[in-house]
Order: sequence, then C-alpha cells, then structure tokens
Amino acid sequence: MSEKSQADILKEQLFYEPKHASYVMDEDEINRADVFCRDYIGFLNASRTEREAAANIVSLARERGYKEFDPKAKYKSGDKVYSLIHEKSVILCTIGKKSVAEGVRILAAHIDSPRLDLKPNPLYEEDELALFKTHYYGGIKKYQWPTVPLALHGVVIKKNGKKVTVRIGDEPGDPVFVVTDLLPHLDRQQADRPMTKVIKGEELNILVGSRPFGNEKSDKAVKLNVLNLLHEKYGIIEEDFLSAELEAVPAYPAVDIGFDRSLIGSYGHDDRVCAYPSVMAAFDAAEPEYTSVAVLTDKEETGSDGNTGLQSAYLKHFIADLGALEGVPGRDVIRNSSCLSADVNAGYDPTFGHVHEKMNAAYLNKGIVLTKYTGSGGKGGTNDANAEFVFKVRSVFDSACVQWQVGELGKVDEGGGGTVAKYIANLGAQVVDVGVPVLSMHAPFEVVSKTDVYMAYKGFKAFLEAK
Ligand code: MN
Ligand code: MN
Repeated sequence: MSEKSQADILKEQLFYEPKHASYVMDEDEINRADVFCRDYIGFLNASRTEREAAANIVSLARERGYKEFDPKAKYKSGDKVYSLIHEKSVILCTIGKKSVAEGVRILAAHIDSPRLDLKPNPLYEEDELALFKTHYYGGIKKYQWPTVPLALHGVVIKKNGKKVTVRIGDEPGDPVFVVTDLLPHLDRQQADRPMTKVIKGEELNILVGSRPFGNEKSDKAVKLNVLNLLHEKYGIIEEDFLSAELEAVPAYPAVDIGFDRSLIGSYGHDDRVCAYPSVMAAFDAAEPEYTSVAVLTDKEETGSDGNTGLQSAYLKHFIADLGALEGVPGRDVIRNSSCLSADVNAGYDPTFGHVHEKMNAAYLNKGIVLTKYTGSGGKGGTNDANAEFVFKVRSVFDSACVQWQVGELGKVDEGGGGTVAKYIANLGAQVVDVGVPVLSMHAPFEVVSKTDVYMAYKGFKAFLEAK
C-alpha cells in the first residue's frame, strides 16, 4: 500500500465527512439493528393509528412495571410512570436520581400520521355503489391515495354509550377498501389539473360495497346492505357514525426493501420511526440521573392544536405535577430541561436531488439527522437550537458512538416544514430536532434505513442516560 500523502493526513484531521453506517458499525451492531427493526416492524403493524399506538405503548409500559401517574403519590428514583392523554397521547416517565429542579430530559415524538378520516356522516350510495366520504388528515399529496388498498381503524361510540373498536383490512382474509382513479384513456381533463388538484379532496371517496340488500329492487339497497352488515358485525346504525372516529390507512404491512433488506417500507414511519425508538430508549435507559420524560403526542400532522397536541398544556402540566411532588415550581423545572424533538427529516433522494442542498442534506444510512432549525424562508416559524445546546447533544452522541449527521429540510427557498420542537422551546426548555431520514415522506408507503432506526434508539438512550 502506498503511504498517505501529507494532504490526505491533513484532510482526515480537518475535513468533516459523515460516513455510511457500514463503515462505522461492526457486524454485531448491524445485527442488533436488524433485530431492533424486526420489533419495530411488529410495532408498526400493530399501531396504524395514534389511538392504537398510544394503547400499545401503554401496554408495553405496563408489562415493564410502569404505573399510572398519580400526582398525589410519592415517588423515588427509578420509579416508572405513564400518563395517557385522551386515548391519543402518552407520557412515559422515569424518576431520576437528581431533583427535578435540575431539569428533566424530554424525548418528544408524534404517533399520528397522515391518512383519510371518514366524515361524520360518511356513507352514501351513488349509481349502485356504496362509498364513504373522507376528509384527509395532515399534509398528503392527494393523488397518491387512490388505488391503494385501505384498512379501516377506529372507534364508534354507539347510542347506548358502548364503544366499538373497528379494525378491518389488515388480517389475512379481511376485505379492504379503495379510492378509485380515472383510467388513462379518459384522463385528458384530469391531466390538465395542477398537481394539488389531480385528485381533489372531495374525490377521495372510498368504495365500500356494490351488492344490494335482498333481491327485490329498492332505493338505496346497496347502502342498506352495507349498513346491515355493519349492524350485524358491530351493532351500529348510521347515526352512530356521528360519534365515531374512523380512519382509513394503507392496508399492507411494513416490509423489508431491497435485495440486501437494508430498508423498511411502511405506512406511518413519520413519526413512529422516532416514537418507537423513543419508547424503547425510555424503557432501557438505566436508572437515569435526570428524570426522563418521553412524550408520544398526537396532532403533529395538523399543527399540534387540540388537547392531545403539543400546543396544549398537557406536557407543561405534567412537568408542573412532577415539580409539585418535590415542591418545585414547574417553570423552574422547564427552564433547566432539555429535549430532543424526535421527528423525521427528508432523506436525500437522488431522483429528486434538485430540492436538496447536498452539503446540508440528510442521507439514508448516515445516522440520525440533527436539524438545528426547521421552518421555511428566512427561518420563519422555527426553534433554532443554540450552538451551546447543539454542542451538548453532539458530545453525548459522540461519546456513545452514535452515528449522526446534520440536515436541513431541503433548499432554502424550496419549501419547509415544522415539528413540535418550537412548542417545547416556547416553554423555555433547550430543544433540538433529531430523527430518522425518510424517503417519500407522507406517502402511503415511506422508506427508512434500518441502521438509522437503530441509531435513533441508541442516540435517544444516550441522551436520557447522559450525566
Ligand atoms: Mn413528523
Ligand atoms: Mn409529518
């Protein structure tokens, strides 16, 4: 082998160049990543909605000895508690060795994903086909949703107050549902529509039946047949849709992608790909010095409003309750607290490389991406993490051998987006975004890399454990 030149040696010293995971992780660790991702795939398949994710997180926590948080109880270091907020958000907390006056360590990820919600009065029949009207949830590219097999998940509260859980379309043998699209032979008018209107909101109607009730012709017999089947299976009547939350989500399970099986394709990676590692990090962090708080929130995809979103006070109140246990005002806890806002960022896609600025883009397999600021234009609407806090996170990751990179969400004037970071930062805590790079974000089938998912777990755990 030829000797390294002086320039090469100096380059190694001075240049910054993030590497592919395969040049950093040993075989053992890559195997651990694959095993971790097998469990993640299981979680994804069981958790298609925020309600299901919240319920599954609570049951995983209870299996590990977590108790429901009681603000009037006494807790000691190492105690593990959870709080379920209106069935859709969860807080997991491990009491630390230090007083909460020194702050808590927060991981914040979201468990809601873009989808098609049924309208309150959804069922109709037109030309002897039965359909559901929908109102899409979150930032979807509407044209991506037709011709995708859909499952139906959610709850219906019946007139008598009984809650029925609906989950149909995922099990082998289940029927699925679908939004139809126009054939290419007849799409000339549609082809002239701009991308956002190729499929319009009111065209996202889900096909749910076509066979009439009985064999004598009667008006709306196809709708009647669907309602009758729903009544037989769930005991519901049409009026019960008024007090229901039913969500149509892609019906196919998460799968390995690639000859090398290095990637995972699934609906809902954003943001369960950060929520699941956050939950596992909270479970596995050994008796932390600082009280750890993992918040798995709802409503991020619609702007974090509402009583299960992070613009509400539920996290602030939980932290105040923690403080009250020790007689410390909540504001004193928050101002000393630090948070990783665990959310995905756009992975660099060579097919659409023009939207990225390559030096500041996140790449699949180069580890979790630290996003100093999100927002759009001139950094509008963002938490911009300060250099001192970024340094702290950098040293935690580096000393735990966490592979990480930095990334912006695309070129400066290309668009933009946000996360829950700013809502937690607005409370006064130190916050920075860290998450997994994703391809085809918000599509019905998103792509992540297994090594990045594992690095999320490793990084989040190191953050919670750091002294
Ligand atoms: Mn997200
Ligand atoms: Mn999103």
